[in-house]
Parts: sequence; C-alpha cells; structure tokens
Amino acid sequence: MSRVLLTGGSGYIAAHVLDCLLARGYSVVTTVRSTKKGEQILDSHKQYGKDKLDFVIVEDIMNPGAFDSAVMSDPPFEAVVHCASPYHYNSKTPEEICRLISTAVDGTTGILKAIKAHAPTVKRVVITSSYAAMIDFSKPLTHVYAEEDWNPITSEQAYQNAPFAYLASKTYAEKAAWDFIKDEKPSFTLTTMNPPMVYGPVIHSLSSLESINTSNARFVSLLRGSPSTPCPPTVNYLFVDVRDLALAHVLALEKQGAENQRFLVTAGNYCNAEIVRIIGKEYPEFRDKMPIGEALGSGERPATGVNGYDNSKSIEILGLQYKPLRESVVGFVDSVKEML
Ligand code: NDP
Repeated sequence: MSRVLLTGGSGYIAAHVLDCLLARGYSVVTTVRSTKKGEQILDSHKQYGKDKLDFVIVEDIMNPGAFDSAVMSDPPFEAVVHCASPYHYNSKTPEEICRLISTAVDGTTGILKAIKAHAPTVKRVVITSSYAAMIDFSKPLTHVYAEEDWNPITSEQAYQNAPFAYLASKTYAEKAAWDFIKDEKPSFTLTTMNPPMVYGPVIHSLSSLESINTSNARFVSLLRGSPSTPCPPTVNYLFVDVRDLALAHVLALEKQGAENQRFLVTAGNYCNAEIVRIIGKEYPEFRDKMPIGEALGSGERPATGVNGYDNSKSIEILGLQYKPLRESVVGFVDSVKEML
C-alpha cells in the first residue's frame, strides 16, 4: 500500500487526515516540529508499527531546504499531503505579517522543490489551501463561490491587519504552488483543498484549551461564556466538518479527475446562532452559558445575504457526502467538554 508524507501531523486538520490515511491502509510519515509532538502521535496510535506510522522533524517549514531530507524515505513516498501552515490572527507588526506570509509561501514552494529534487516516485501532491484564497470582498457575499474564484488581495492590503495577513498568506501560497506546477512541470500532479470554517472533533494532543486551533476558538469562548456574552457575529457563513475535509484530502490522492484541480470543500451555510441553538438543545449543562435569546430561541441564519457557494465539483469528482452542522458541533463539544 502506498506511502504518504503528511506535513504538520500535530495540527487539528492534519490529525484527522492522518487517521483517515491509516484507516484506508496507507503507510504514513508525518512531519512535526519536535520529538515530543512526534512521540505523542505514536503514543496515541500504538496499534500501528513503525512501518505504518512514523515521524520526522521539520522544525520550521520556512527554513531553506526544510523538507529536503523529509521527502526521502525507504520505501519511497508515492504521495504528499501538505497541511502545515500557520493559521492565526496574531500578526500585528509588519515584521510579523511578513513572517506569516513568508512561512506559508516558502513552506509550500519548499516542499514542492524538495519533492521535485529528491522524491521522483511521488505522483500526487495535495495541499490544504483555503476558502481564504477564493474570497473576493469586491463581490457581494452572495456571489456563488466556486473553484475559479481567487482572492485578489494586494500586498498593501495584506499589511492592513492580522486577518488580511492570513488571507494573503493562503492566497499567495496557493498561487505559488500553481505557478510551480506551470513553470517547473514536475512529474507529480497538484490538488488543492479550499475549505471555509472547519469544525468538528479535536483529536490532536492539546495541553489546554488555550492552545485550541483558530477555527474552534470561538466555540470555546461560547462554551465558557455566559448569557450576557453576545453571540459572536458570523464572519463566514460556510463550514465543513473536519472529518469530511480529511476524507477529501485522501480521496484527492485516489480519485481520477482530482489531479491538478482546486476543490471548494464545504457542506454549505451555517451561522453562529445555529451553533448556539444546537449546543443549547443537545447539552442542557451548557444551556446557561449560551447567549440569551439565541440558545433556544431564534437560532436561524438570515435567509439572504449569506455566502453563495457551489460545491458540486467536490461531490461529483471526490464523491463527498457532507455531514450536517449538528454532527460537527456535537463532535466538537464531546471532544473538549472534559477540558472546559
Ligand atoms: P493548526 O494550527 O491546528 O495546525 C497548523 C499546523 O501547521 C500545526 O501542525 C503546526 O505545528 C504547523 N505549523 C505552523 N507553522 C509552522 C512552521 N513554521 N513550521 C512547521 N510547522 C508549522 O491549524 P489547522 O489544522 O486548522 O490548519 C491546518 C491548515 O488548514 C492550515 O494550512 C490552514 O491555513 C488550513 N485551513 C484551516 C481552516 C480551519 O478552519 N481550521 C480553514 C481553511 C484552511 P505546531 O502545532 O507544532 O505549531
């Protein structure tokens, strides 16, 4: 069965990709930043021998040649899934913004260069890009987003604030990847996953909920809130369950027609008030934490003015069947409630 290199196995999404690869019989080597993180992954997968699951250290994907030795393996890799990239809104100074963008871009081009130079057996590469690389604020939110959409963000805009810096990091990294394919004509194909907000169970090792990944942070503040805490505004009315997204990454390695394609991977629309309503209904113990008037009340998304989307390509080519929001919310709350 084929052997896959997965970057950033300690992350929220990559942990699910790892489990999905193992469940489908792949042999996996994952990159992590430290031996401690690698050992934690092996400890939580004791049923797999070293031939099925191992790790390699890549301390910083931004370093030149960071992946040069990681892409070499015996037996050799046939595919690479690149998930590792910073996802946070903490870059405030120009230096921090520059570093965020460089990490995303250099990490992406770095792994592609390393595969081309040192891993000739690799046939497919899948990169976790983002809906961030698609959204165009000059269009109405109701624009029906699909794979041909690109975020036109300029570098001047990227330096305006931390969220814009993140949007730019994902846009420029994905663009750089497609440019690499066009200019370098490597012997592998590229597929990008472009998910919006990713929700669902947390299965990676967390020292505390303070280090929860960015997309789930709002859930934690909701669960720790009080009825007087207002329901946070929904910024992006599109979501996908992390388990569906993980499966999409693996199907992109397997399905004919997925090569050299982008995929908008989304289950569709949602809003934060719906999350509040689901938590209030399914978890009476958290009901008194939910914002008043939202928990059991309205909980409806606006009928108009939410993000348009067309996810048909992901259904037709990858064969995805998307989980509803309730499963993502319940999966998340069950996975963290002991830590609250
Ligand atoms: P996490 O923060 O949980 O995972 C990020 C991963 O990248 C971690 O393994 C992290 O390692 C690693 N990483 C970050 N910076 C570096 C670096 N400089 N060198 C080495 N490794 C690094 O976030 P997610 O799982 O949510 O995100 C994974 C990918 O999915 C990212 O590319 C993100 O942009 C994308 N994405 C996420 C969405 C979401 O809603 N969650 C939506 C759309 C796209 P460590 O843990 O050791 O820091």
